Amino acid sequence: MIEIKHLSKTYKTIKALQDISMVLPKDEIVFLVGPNGAGKSTLIKLLSGYIKPTTGEVLIEGKDVQVDRSTLLYMGYVPENSPLYPEMNVYEYVKYVAGLWQMNRDEFDQRLRVVVDKLQLTEVLTQKIDTLSKGFRRRVGIAGALIHNPEILILDEPTEGLDPNQKHEIHQFIKEYAKNRLVIISSHIMEEVEAIADRVILINKGKLVWDGVPEELKKAAPDNNLDTAFRLLTKGDMQ
Ligand code: ADP
Repeated sequence: MIEIKHLSKTYKTIKALQDISMVLPKDEIVFLVGPNGAGKSTLIKLLSGYIKPTTGEVLIEGKDVQVDRSTLLYMGYVPENSPLYPEMNVYEYVKYVAGLWQMNRDEFDQRLRVVVDKLQLTEVLTQKIDTLSKGFRRRVGIAGALIHNPEILILDEPTEGLDPNQKHEIHQFIKEYAKNRLVIISSHIMEEVEAIADRVILINKGKLVWDGVPEELKKAAPDNNLDTAFRLLTKGDMQ
């Protein structure tokens, strides 16, 4: 579970996030949506402990991410362009990440089997990363983030640039992984929200403007459509 308490982040004069509070329990697929510049990446970076808040705090299982770095063990984070190492093969990359988590050989072997199976990476395990298709590369990024079996998975634009089949595979995987865990996804794709979100958090100009189930968000639009609701609630603010 993540608790966000009065979280704000100011970069010099830019108020990127203002007084955000919410609780994100397990067993949920949460979508973080909003126009460009809304503050989504800032919020994700604060959740993952990557940057410090100006005020407020993020608690992971009751512990402050800035104070107790062991909280990072609970999390797997896949940025939009996962920093993969193109000259490594898939196995070498996942093993390298496991090394960063100081996993022992048995733990690694066991988790590798699960992750490779779930993400359908068996056929490319010894293939160099720079020779893989975009869909496979995305899955390798997710595999690296999951090797230590985190309870919280954060994905930035996970299906950007993928074809419908690849999107479907990632969606199926996310739904399965979210059981008894928390998955947070930053995305612009309302179709994707419709397909797999349990909860939508809409941010605009650093402020929380909506937090609820997709069905309720639709009702904010006269045509009962998520895209329209998004536009109405963030009107004139898209850059
Ligand atoms: P989003 O991910 O929703 O596009 P961001 O969190 O990246 O939004 O940005 C929110 C605001 O903070 C924007 O105005 C952006 O220009 C600003 N911002 C983000 N990162 C920095 C930074 N490192 N330094 C200064 N301003 C930043």
